[in-house]
Amino acid sequence: MGEKKKKIVKQIKVDADLCNGCRACEAVCSAFHASPRYSSNNPARSRIRVHFDPLRNLYVPVYAGPYTESECMGRDKYTIDGKEYDECLFCRASCPSRDLFKEPDSGLPLKCDMCEDDPPLEEPMCVQVCLVDALTYEEREEEVEEEEEEKREDLEVGLEALINEYGLEKIMDTVARMAVSKEE
Ligand code: SF4
Ligand code: SF4
Repeated sequence: MGEKKKKIVKQIKVDADLCNGCRACEAVCSAFHASPRYSSNNPARSRIRVHFDPLRNLYVPVYAGPYTESECMGRDKYTIDGKEYDECLFCRASCPSRDLFKEPDSGLPLKCDMCEDDPPLEEPMCVQVCLVDALTYEEREEEVEEEEEEKREDLEVGLEALINEYGLEKIMDTVARMAVSKEE
């Protein structure tokens, strides 16, 4: 067993009851990730999207999670307060069955990166602009196995180098092909 090591876990808490649907979070996220930074603003490029339920006048902010190369084998159906919600509504994945959380031009997946920056921001941009505190930011310390954490960091560095050299699309194609040939 490896040594324990402290790790900072970043977390954004969403209180949908407080969200008023202003969509400032979508606007600032897309502007922060534009190249050059703040040069454009297009919610379709945002890594947070706010869904609206007209029957209950409820807004639900959803963060972009990991990319998945194939859609689910089944579908989730949520019933809240007696009302059924659309399949996939609360799902965070960028997946082939819908356009959500994909770069509109390239189709490449979008994922929330907590506004990684150097030097780090005190709070992610979407949290900063949410004036009603529907989004709040927390950091907490967790103990993790040192070896496991180091291996993951090594893997991330290696992947980043490959992506820089070959582009994300090629890497994803290759991984998809390898997964299929492993299944066969
Ligand atoms: S900025 Fe806050 S209140 Fe406005 S849509 Fe986003 S989560 Fe909702
Ligand atoms: S934390 Fe940053 S990257 Fe993630 S949704 Fe908010 S503004 Fe976008």
